[in-house]
Amino acid sequence: MFLEKSKEKRGSIEVICGSMFSGKTEELIRRLRRSEIAKQKVVICKPSIENRYDSEKVVSHNQISIDCKTISKASEILTFSEGVEVLGIDEAQFFDTELVDVCNELANNGVRVIIAALDMDYEGQPFEPIPQLLSVADEVTKVRAICIQCGNLANYSYRIVEKNERILLGEKNEYEARCRNCFKK
Ligand SMILES: [Zn+2]
Repeated sequence: MFLEKSKEKRGSIEVICGSMFSGKTEELIRRLRRSEIAKQKVVICKPSIENRYDSEKVVSHNQISIDCKTISKASEILTFSEGVEVLGIDEAQFFDTELVDVCNELANNGVRVIIAALDMDYEGQPFEPIPQLLSVADEVTKVRAICIQCGNLANYSYRIVEKNERILLGEKNEYEARCRNCFKK
């Protein structure tokens, strides 16, 4: 009874957002590792589209990694959330708006949900469903990269190759972080 009550209090949605190369995944992994050390039951998942390094682990650009589940749609998260205390979601911008309901349901049931996501696409437009998630989040952290052109803090993911698909998985030779001024140019 006491445990259920304290669990209920812990339910929340945290969003870590920003451009590419801003350290979103590192921050997600840092928070999850801290919970693991405290012996909380931690699960991490990511969309199946996101397989640029490794399909069984979430891997950041600097190769820190944590074991994870790969899923094709947001509602699948509910199938393995039983007993989970902390649930991490990486690259959340690749899910549809169903993710908002899933995260709310988890948080309402006492799960601490931590989401890492790109908040803007390569054209600088809000990347759904992240705007909706930011609205329902308990806590939002916007992390920034460093502009490769001028050294200022950067919010934008500038695509340096000519392709028009919204989803083009990022590598250092396809994107660079840019500040507002350098992004406009
Ligand atoms: Zn700049």
